[in-house]
Amino acid sequence: MKIYNTMSKRKEEFVPLEEGKVKMYVCGPTVYNYIHIGNARPMIVFDTVRRYFEYKNYDVNYVSNFTDVDDKIIKKANEEGVTAEEISQRYIAECKKDMDGMNIEPATKNPLATEEIDGMISMIETLIEKGYAYEKNGTVYYRTRKFKDYGKLSHKNLDDLQSGGRTLLVSGEDEKEDSLDFVLWKPKKEGEPAWVSPWGEGRPGWHIECSEMSKKYLGEQIDIHAGGEDLIFPHHENEIAQSEAANGKEFSRYWMHNGFLNIDNRKMSKSLGNFFTVREISEKYDLQVLRFFMLSAHYRSPLNFSAELMEAAKSGLVRIITAADRLKFLMRSAKTEDMAETEAEKFAKSAEYVGNFESAMDDDFNTADAIAAVFDLVKFINTMTDEDSSKEYLENLFDRLVRLTEVLGIIVDKEDEILDSDIEALIAERQAARKEKNFARADEIRDELLAKGIVLKDTREGVQWKRA
Ligand code: AMP
Ligand code: ZN
Repeated sequence: MKIYNTMSKRKEEFVPLEEGKVKMYVCGPTVYNYIHIGNARPMIVFDTVRRYFEYKNYDVNYVSNFTDVDDKIIKKANEEGVTAEEISQRYIAECKKDMDGMNIEPATKNPLATEEIDGMISMIETLIEKGYAYEKNGTVYYRTRKFKDYGKLSHKNLDDLQSGGRTLLVSGEDEKEDSLDFVLWKPKKEGEPAWVSPWGEGRPGWHIECSEMSKKYLGEQIDIHAGGEDLIFPHHENEIAQSEAANGKEFSRYWMHNGFLNIDNRKMSKSLGNFFTVREISEKYDLQVLRFFMLSAHYRSPLNFSAELMEAAKSGLVRIITAADRLKFLMRSAKTEDMAETEAEKFAKSAEYVGNFESAMDDDFNTADAIAAVFDLVKFINTMTDEDSSKEYLENLFDRLVRLTEVLGIIVDKEDEILDSDIEALIAERQAARKEKNFARADEIRDELLAKGIVLKDTREGVQWKRA
């Protein structure tokens, strides 16, 4: 399995630190509003990476933070006259709803920056002790030049950075020893959330959050660190400087970055007015369509969002779900149980598509080619099955399709889920009717369910149901 490593700028064979395990950290969103479809790209991409590791039987420890203390959160809180915590809690809840709609597997842990301040303080103390940080008037800075490898991820040269950096010095930062130094801890300002520290009340800088949360939940060394490509510099470069100086070892083996999502071939931005939240998209499309759209391109390429491309993604997705539906329908009415020899041969032939799918995913998660392999399997299903197919053959094909679509996070069974909740609602209504001794209504519901092919069985544990 090969992964493109931003650090070496080439594809490298994946070798885990510990056999059969993957420790992965993905920088999460700053929660001051609904997430936009650009934020959704790393979520979908790295969830798919995780799912493929799981498909390959790796045990994945997936950590992704929420940045819940930040200037933008404080600004929004002041505008609304509420606390920063209220803003961040609200948008974490909304973000989780969107993630659920996009079928993002819940992370092993979603740490919140505000709950990890003690750990950040002790990491900053370690950096001061080791000579990598210093305090001036309540602010703690990282001594960038002291870290010899600074620039190794973004492939930037310190002196080039220095000449660019001087003009970018903001007021109050003239106390820095060097213009390249960045903030680890900043002193409290009026009306801002603050925590007690050895340097007075204040709050942490953004970069130290991820260094600390990654260490706490995954250990000093991890397999994969990921995020959007805008995070390479300075965020990930600074994380490396902090973690490697504090822990004395290589931080992450592989660094993965997704390309940017543009809208109508232009950078997505609020000022240009070409800006969509995931929530807005969900009003028009099932979010599975957004997910499928994102995976139609290679994760490192820029991706253009447009109405036409979303429609194309939708029809592709419908094609896959329809094939799954066809199999389900044929399975219900199959006349024979066991797979015939000719069917076994055909089924064996369809393994070719699984092979193609895996080769594509093994090549730095090429989901575009992996989707092409799924379409080949769909075509095979549509042409190589009919009313005379055995149940076993159909089931095998169905399982094969589901195993691949699950890696992509696409649920081909979704209609059934909707159907199931309908059925359960009717069963509950029937129970209530029986309690009120309205047996006529109870029988009516039983008949209604029977007409849908649902058979009820009253047991001591309650009502059980199955499809006839
Ligand atoms: P932020 O809340 O800005 O820190 O962003 C959270 C994540 O979304 C980071 O990994 C960003 O790199 C990523 N991101 C933000 N905008 C885009 C975009 N337009 N396309 C792709 N990824 C993005
Ligand atoms: Zn981060």
